[in-house]
Amino acid sequence: MSTFRFQALGKASSRKPVSFEETNKKSEIFGSNVFNDKAMRQFLTPDAYKAVKSAIEHGTKIDRKIADYVAMGMKEWALTKNVTHYTHWFQPLTGTTAEKHDAFFETSFDGSDPVEKFGGSQLVQQEPDASSFPNGGIRNTFEARGYTAWDPTSPAFIFGSTLCIPTVFVSYTGEALDNKTPLLRALSAIDAAATEVAKYFDKNVKKVTPTLGWEQEYFLVDAALANSRPDILATGRTLLGHTSSKGQQLDDHYFGSIPTRVLQYMRELEYECMLLGIPVKTRHNEVAPGQFELAPIFEETNLAVDHNSLLMDVMQKVAERHDFKVLFHEKPFKGVNGSGKHNNWSLATDTGVNLLSPGKTPMSNLQFLTFFINTIKAVNNYEELLRASIASASNDHRLGANEAPPAIISVFIGQQLTKVLAELEGVTKGKLSPKEKTDLKLNVVGKLPDVLLDNTDRNRTSPFAFTGNKFEFRAVGSSANCAVSMTTLNSIVAKQLIDFKKEVDALVEKKDLKKDEAIFNILREYIKETKNILFEGDGYSEAWEKEAKKRGLSNHKTTPKALKAKVSKEAVKLFEELGVMNHVEVEARYEIELEEYTKKIQIEGRVLGDIARNHVIPTAIKYQNTLIENVKGLKEIFGKDFEKIAKEQIGLIKEISEHIEGINRNIDAMIEERKKANNLNSAEKMAEAYCDKVKPYFEIIREHSDKLELLVDDEMWTLTKYRELLFVK
Ligand code: ADP
Ligand code: MG
Repeated sequence: MSTFRFQALGKASSRKPVSFEETNKKSEIFGSNVFNDKAMRQFLTPDAYKAVKSAIEHGTKIDRKIADYVAMGMKEWALTKNVTHYTHWFQPLTGTTAEKHDAFFETSFDGSDPVEKFGGSQLVQQEPDASSFPNGGIRNTFEARGYTAWDPTSPAFIFGSTLCIPTVFVSYTGEALDNKTPLLRALSAIDAAATEVAKYFDKNVKKVTPTLGWEQEYFLVDAALANSRPDILATGRTLLGHTSSKGQQLDDHYFGSIPTRVLQYMRELEYECMLLGIPVKTRHNEVAPGQFELAPIFEETNLAVDHNSLLMDVMQKVAERHDFKVLFHEKPFKGVNGSGKHNNWSLATDTGVNLLSPGKTPMSNLQFLTFFINTIKAVNNYEELLRASIASASNDHRLGANEAPPAIISVFIGQQLTKVLAELEGVTKGKLSPKEKTDLKLNVVGKLPDVLLDNTDRNRTSPFAFTGNKFEFRAVGSSANCAVSMTTLNSIVAKQLIDFKKEVDALVEKKDLKKDEAIFNILREYIKETKNILFEGDGYSEAWEKEAKKRGLSNHKTTPKALKAKVSKEAVKLFEELGVMNHVEVEARYEIELEEYTKKIQIEGRVLGDIARNHVIPTAIKYQNTLIENVKGLKEIFGKDFEKIAKEQIGLIKEISEHIEGINRNIDAMIEERKKANNLNSAEKMAEAYCDKVKPYFEIIREHSDKLELLVDDEMWTLTKYRELLFVK
């Protein structure tokens, strides 16, 4: 019997690794397809070069005439690399990237004078026909159109034969329609706020740059096998499938030797990343079979976000050449670990200091503690908003599923820093005696080792952990665009630093305290106020859920519930005050995310109904018929004794019927609930209905189907099984 499944298996198991030979050293090719500093020096006039540099470093505007020169240089550079097209490259609220290619080539209207053309106007602004990107009602298609505008802080790059220009995407009325615009605004807010505070410690600081180092987890599945599963194709995950007898129990995949086919894929992927200036550094097997991770060296946050979005695209494209499909879904397979995208985050000054790294002197340690404690305070004040920033239908499968960070946000800081905070808590209110000051400086902050890295115990269950010289936001989903979590994190810390500065300055003025005394005083208050957010124990445990509830921490396990915090009064106020988003933008995003949630569950429900009815049930009936034939035959041979002899078969026939009935009944009920949900009149209510009324049927239907998978003859089963998806390499 040659079903699609067996054809796919035949293809998958006969594959040879697609070999890939690197020709150059990484350091030689790194960034060669990026319009980086080296390329700019070579292809731009000095004026144009200076203008772009100043835009990158100080956010200054580039005037139109200069833009013409920049475009000219960019085009010349691109032509030396056989580029034929250009595109504005942006990140609409679909969560992925968008591009529309135009040829450099132009002629005059009668077809004469063909030239390669690309001017300042094409570089600076474009008007993609963007009416079908999500906009949450901001952009009425009849009144205003959206446009993309060049973001000079992220360098143009070449992919394939196309010059890609990173841009923001906004409406003509100025509202952001993308993920990058609010991120850029949040980054500039935290730059301003953190620079002011950093100046307490070093007057020379002029700029603070938030850094981001993401770690991308993903699954690789053979392309033929992935294509044989309608659920993987339509939803990125398996909606059915009995868990494989062998999963990850033996821990034999984690950090194990990388299979050759995968290794060849990784090598080519890393080569492409090198050309694109994405500084990938680490690769390894992850916990689940078929699961891997890739991490770069950290970068400035806007660039790191662009690089992650670009990477996800490149990963899929390179995978095609190796006959793999990449699954970015947070939970593609039941029963084995899901995938995340840890966001490692810190703040760096233009004087070369990592503000979340303890230093060698008491002063630099006080600076470290200031930024460390303010970050904790920010998370404490906005834990619900931070939770909301990572909410999605797919991440719901992971958060709180006893394998990934819980849906409760808490901060892990490790034993050593817990002790330091306890000592700081004892600081005297108001003026400090000279002895006390010396004591504090020498014995408390002075004793912080300048490298905490090796001393910070790792707690894998924490959603937000301090790891020696950075915070690691671990609850971010593998399919997410990091811009969303980074916009929120940088905004809440910016707001906190602004408040901190006000409080310190007020104390200095009113109480006539020295600056460091005032800082100690305020930090002491913060330590007292933020105890609830600190948690060192097992985040997966039930005890923590209970404890967190007592502490008043939120625990939103589903996206519709979690998202509400995005439109709370405090959230709107925060984003408006900082100039990150106005209330229209905030509300539009809320709508879009609710709609996206609803659509995802709706699609999953449809696909599930389809495969359960059109694959599982017909297969089960076919097998049941062979059993019936068998029983009939036994009856013919054995006469009235047959019932004893055919007992097992008859039992199976009944069991199969029960599961078929179970599937049908629950699909009908699910469809009823979908109809009801579709008639609701608000995005909020619809998302809630899909979450609470429709989704619960998924598990019930799956259970019946997975039981059938165990009963039915393997030769007949049409859907590729877990053991094949996960283990065929
Ligand atoms: P691990 O946490 O897996 O043991 P590391 O601590 O070396 O490994 O780094 C993990 C990730 O943290 C890497 O992607 C790295 O780029 C990132 N990272 C390291 N330092 C910083 C920093 N100062 N800011 C942001 N990210 C950082
Ligand atoms: Mg990791």
